[in-house]
Amino acid sequence: MYCKCGKKAIIFRRYSGEKLCERCFNKSMIDRVKKVIRKYSLIEKNDRVCVAVSGGKDSLVLLHILKKLSEKYPFDLIALTIDEGIEGYRDKAIETVKRNCELLGIESRVYSFKKELGYPLDEIVKKDRELSSCSYCGVFRRYLLNKKTRELGCNKLAVGHNLDDEVQTILMNFLRGDLSRFGRTGPYYIYLNERFVPRIKPLREIPEKENVVYALSNNIEVEFSTCPYSGEAYRNNIREFLNKMELEQPTTKYSLLRSYDKIYSLLAKSLAKKLKYCEKCGEPTIGNVCKTCEFLEEL
Ligand code: SF4
Ligand code: ZN
Repeated sequence: MYCKCGKKAIIFRRYSGEKLCERCFNKSMIDRVKKVIRKYSLIEKNDRVCVAVSGGKDSLVLLHILKKLSEKYPFDLIALTIDEGIEGYRDKAIETVKRNCELLGIESRVYSFKKELGYPLDEIVKKDRELSSCSYCGVFRRYLLNKKTRELGCNKLAVGHNLDDEVQTILMNFLRGDLSRFGRTGPYYIYLNERFVPRIKPLREIPEKENVVYALSNNIEVEFSTCPYSGEAYRNNIREFLNKMELEQPTTKYSLLRSYDKIYSLLAKSLAKKLKYCEKCGEPTIGNVCKTCEFLEEL
């Protein structure tokens, strides 16, 4: 199997028919991220971008690619990591993040659930609670990412969601009939509120598998272990379904993303709610009290 340049190919993209060698593959990854950023004006001159880095492959690939781009275009980068307090898992990943940041010369900031909110996740899971660990974890993490990005003086929050994450989320929200969430996962951001930092997803058109190949071929040190509390059954079913469909029809995931993107602009405008400020903590919220304060009260 050979690349169009004549070198030995390391990857075959079934959805496009391309066979690419290491050099052409790496170039195409950077070009695709650049194209998405340009197409939707995700990053502009002199932006200060916080990158949410968990230590997994997607967020670290994002950090490495944005670092490359920031050497040519004027924008600043800070790596932001949330320590949920999961012993034996997140502590290892944080060390991986720190080594990557040192290598790239990027400032790294870590904020923990325990210090900022009072409880590490390991303690929350032992409590008598109504929802899954991921529900508390997700709400608290999004809350801290937004708050800390703003406090660090950054105007964008970049997250490592890949194509697989995006199409799973789109299909999940659609099947659940959750239209308000359905309108929230699009290619570009809509400015909602001065305390709500716009989230950008420069990797949303990159399949998960290609992030793995990019990390391996660029010797990026990533943490491959999985969270001991993971197991969102519904998402796992959707993932399996989409992978099966993709095997039969290799353009399935891209087609779903393109269809969604076409209706996103209509949805987002009609569903964008005016956010209020939480009566307890002052952070942006849809109701009177934010989900984080509500959960903390319950715990
Ligand atoms: Fe948190 Fe769930 Fe992710 Fe674990 S799998 S880090 S509990 S959201
Ligand atoms: Zn609050």
